[in-house]
Amino acid sequence: MKLFNKKSWSLLLFLAVSAPTIMAKSPDEGMFPLSELSRAGLKNAGLKISEKDIYNPGKVGLVDALVQVSGCTGSFISSSGLIITNHHCAFSAVQLASTPIDNYLRNGFVAQSHEQEIEARGLTIRITDSYEDVSDKILAAVAHITDPSERITLIKKKQQELVEEAQKQDPTIKAEVSEMFIGKTYVLFRYKTIEDVRLVYIPRQTIGEFGGETDNWVWPRHTGDYSFLRAYVGKDGASAKFSKDNIPYQPKKFLKVNPKGVNENDFVFILGYPGKTFRHRPAQYIQYQQNFLLPYVSNLYEFQNERMYEAGKTDRATALALATRIKRNANVLKNYKGKLKGLRNIDLINTKKKDDQALAAFILSKPDLKSKYGSLMSEIDGLYTLINQDAYKELWMNNIYTSTSLMRIAREINSFKLTLQQQNSSEQQKAFFEANKENVKTALLEIYESYSNYADERILAHMFADAQAFQGNNQIETIQKLKLRDANLANAYGSQLIRNTKLNGCTQVLNQILSSPNAFLAFSDPLLDFQNSLNQDIQQFAVEQKRRDGILNKLMGDYVAVKEMYQSKNFIPDANSTLRLTFGNVKGYSPVDATYMNPFTTIAGIIQKGNLGETDFDYPSEIKTAWENKNFGPYVKKELNDVPVNLLYNMDTTGGNSGSPIMNAYGELIGVNFDRSYDATINDFAWNDSYSRSIGVDIRYVLWVADKIDHAQFILKEMGI
Ligand code: GLU
Repeated sequence: MKLFNKKSWSLLLFLAVSAPTIMAKSPDEGMFPLSELSRAGLKNAGLKISEKDIYNPGKVGLVDALVQVSGCTGSFISSSGLIITNHHCAFSAVQLASTPIDNYLRNGFVAQSHEQEIEARGLTIRITDSYEDVSDKILAAVAHITDPSERITLIKKKQQELVEEAQKQDPTIKAEVSEMFIGKTYVLFRYKTIEDVRLVYIPRQTIGEFGGETDNWVWPRHTGDYSFLRAYVGKDGASAKFSKDNIPYQPKKFLKVNPKGVNENDFVFILGYPGKTFRHRPAQYIQYQQNFLLPYVSNLYEFQNERMYEAGKTDRATALALATRIKRNANVLKNYKGKLKGLRNIDLINTKKKDDQALAAFILSKPDLKSKYGSLMSEIDGLYTLINQDAYKELWMNNIYTSTSLMRIAREINSFKLTLQQQNSSEQQKAFFEANKENVKTALLEIYESYSNYADERILAHMFADAQAFQGNNQIETIQKLKLRDANLANAYGSQLIRNTKLNGCTQVLNQILSSPNAFLAFSDPLLDFQNSLNQDIQQFAVEQKRRDGILNKLMGDYVAVKEMYQSKNFIPDANSTLRLTFGNVKGYSPVDATYMNPFTTIAGIIQKGNLGETDFDYPSEIKTAWENKNFGPYVKKELNDVPVNLLYNMDTTGGNSGSPIMNAYGELIGVNFDRSYDATINDFAWNDSYSRSIGVDIRYVLWVADKIDHAQFILKEMGI
């Protein structure tokens, strides 16, 4: 790994040196970039290894055992590329490998040999190879630019240039420039990608998803949310597409698993790729979330899921095809509802407003700041007034394609049609058609794979009714032109569009349109016409969105800069899917008056929940038998006289931290992070020790299930247990 250029962190480092009290503080909020470990206070908090054992540029550290897998995190736990992550992170790949007969989603999957491992379709693995600060280069490119759209375009262009330069220097890596502070700090990351990933051991659904949606984002929890994958590369060690000839990848580092687990109050830390947090945002941002985005999206997803459940009720194949979509929606919608509850509970808008007022006063108190940032707060206000005026239109447009498969199909077809039309001659058209037709087919098939006509019809109808009710700036021209007088007529119109479209029949569509360029061009359909017209509205609005993004980028850069000057406390950038460390303790909490939640759950709790008789709490009978016989093996936690199933801790995590290894003071793996408590969903806006708790699966439960229930002893052997 190359040394991280710490130049732009100099202010932060200065603060750390000049404020030693922070070092002695108990663990606090913080998803620390690796360059900031020295000021995290890890030793004082209880770390027993050197920080260099975790991250040591140019040498091997624990970070080299970390992988990013889809939107999740995972870690290598053997020299043969074995990876542990969450069950929900491998979910889509398990779904794709499943059929109603070989239903690995329901029954689980144990490969007793390498040959039995199954391709994990759609999953790739990324490893962080090195990184460097490139803020100076990016900001120099926009130093004299005042036009917001141009600013965004140039920032993107410069990012792309740096990416290409880095990839040219080393063609084996994929580069990415990540914005650490919006409009202010940029870091170039170099990643290695592994394309051949396989399913090794997946627990059955009644273990991996025990508790289902009822328990999602909930403590006390009893979910075996783990899975084992393996990374494969070509014989030459380089990344290669799936092939029987590939060999297991040998990571630079793998984590040692400690089967003894941890105790209450023990120091723990997590390395992972947290997705996105929004803590350095003004009150208006939180207001937008609370008033528009969170209620709109959660209501829409709730409606979608109700329709998709209905669609799959009597048809197992449809249920399977929609499983991932339903699960993702449900996960987001419950998170958003948790956020709405939390935002009201702590009245974050008002707290933020007060913070912003103090910030405004600070600006006015210093002449140099006043001249540079005097209008900052009112400009932020102005921008959000604008954003709020057509917030519903924006949300509707942002969701129309993800909500309805046939609208996505129509977009694919129309966009290919357009490029075909733009070819200069019929020869060129033919050549272009032949060169791209397989890609188009694959893209369309992929959408059809999780398509339900029943759900699509009802969801589009619902969105038509929504749009019909929009007033003023929120009106959408294409819908408005239809002059639908009321919600019922709008609903019926949307519904008819799906009923009348020829795009319903997958094979028929593909056979007809993909037979020749002329057939493709001649294919017409009311849904294609509707998509074309709507697309024009969306494109037009995109110009305005880009302009606003440009303004926001500049304003947020300034906001963060002032906040950093104002706060004596150290500043940690929001999460942005780059590698971070967070630490804390195994710790219970008191989410509501007169309660105390213990930090460990046990198998006894699985049995208790199972007694409720709800399907979400079905569990394998073998678990009960083993528990009744006290067949706990070495995985028992003596004080509990049971196997610990899940654990709770006060670390700072978010989506993307799913699958992150939880390590003890010696850097040994003792669990896998997979969720937060309901109250902690609000972490993304504001972290607090009183309500922020994350949830992991205890390694002792993983090992117990593998050993006693699933008879996957080979896994234990490979991990050196
Ligand atoms: N369970 C979470 C999710 O699926 C991941 C972890 C988190 O957000 O805390 O999004």
